[in-house]
Parts: sequence; C-alpha cells; structure tokens
Amino acid sequence: MAHPEISVGDFIQFAGAVGVSNCPGAPRLQFLLGRKNATFPAADLTVPEPFDTVDSILARFADAGGFSPAEVVALLASHTIAAADVVDPTIPGTPFDSTPGTFDTQFFVETQLRGTLFPGDGPNQGEVESPLAGEMRLQSDSELARDSRTACLWQANVNSQQHMVTSFAAAMAKLAVLGQDTSKMDDCSDVIPVPKTLTKKATFPAGLSNADVQQACATS
Ligand code: CA
Repeated sequence: MAHPEISVGDFIQFAGAVGVSNCPGAPRLQFLLGRKNATFPAADLTVPEPFDTVDSILARFADAGGFSPAEVVALLASHTIAAADVVDPTIPGTPFDSTPGTFDTQFFVETQLRGTLFPGDGPNQGEVESPLAGEMRLQSDSELARDSRTACLWQANVNSQQHMVTSFAAAMAKLAVLGQDTSKMDDCSDVIPVPKTLTKKATFPAGLSNADVQQACATS
C-alpha cells in the first residue's frame, strides 16, 4: 500500500463519509486516501460564513475550485443532516430541518417556508427567522433558496431524492480532493458503509401548507 499512515486530512474525510453513511437516504461517498498533512493553518475566512451574501458565497466557491452555483446548492444538501452550535450559543445543536437524522429533501422544503420565529434568543448574526420551533435557519440558506441564480436549483431537490443524492455525492467527491493529485491517492471507498435507503416523500410540517411556501423559482 502506498500510504501506510492516515493523515489528519484523510481522517477528516473518512470520518465525514462514515458519518454521512449513518443517515438513511445518504449516498455512499467516495473516500480517497493519500493527503499530506498540512504544515500551516489555512487563512481565516476561507470558508464562507452564514452572513455572507450570495454574491460572495458563489464567488468564493468559483474561486476555490471552479464550483458552479449548481454544485454549491448540491453541497448544501449536507444541511439536511446538520445543526448549528455557535450561531445561537444558547441552543447548541439546533438542526436546519425537522429530520436531522435523515438524508431526505425536507431541508429544501423547509427553507422555502415563510420564517416566523427565532428558535432561541435570536436574531443572531447569520440567522434569520425559521418556520419551526427547534429549527435554525441560516441567512445564507434563506437567500440561496430565494436568489434568482439558485432558487430553481434549490427547488429541483424537493422530492427528487435521486437528483439530490447524486449531485451531492459528485460535488463532495470534487470538494474532498481539492488541491490533491488524485493519481497519487488510493481509492478506499469500499471501507465506507452502505447507507440505508429511504423512500419517504418530503412533507409539510404540522400546521403548514403550500400557502406558507415563498416560492422563488418561477418555473416549478
Ligand atoms: Ca433531513
């Protein structure tokens, strides 16, 4: 084997792929081994913040590795199994959708619902009103769901599990090897568990309906 040791970067990617695989509906992510350990920290603010504008988020992803708006939206499928710890430090672990244990399309529905409340002591920087108690909405997710460049890409994920999973896996495969020479890496994807499949459709949360959707995509 060309890489007898696992580097910190490899371990982070490995842990991420295994973590995602625990969620029903998730893709089995590619895992390539062979990153070198970094010798100095990345500059601050190289990862977009939730209070950044859509302009700056799209520009940053394009600059970082040629990621298209479609790939940025694809990567944000990760927020279907994610939570915020520090946006509102009074409620760490507050999820971005009502099903944070399931890799479903619920996130893309709920981010289009009209915001009505703050789940903790908001508003905090990077946070906007959410449609549900116990749910955090990031300003960046809210704006990407409503921006003319990304709203239809966002909507395309709703109840399109296969599209969401396929585009997420492809964008993650690209992100996971950014700056690496993949010809010198070993494909160890077969150590990643195969996630359980999911057939459940997205639903409106209790008490909410189509009337609560702020539909920004004009064509669907
Ligand atoms: Ca979810």
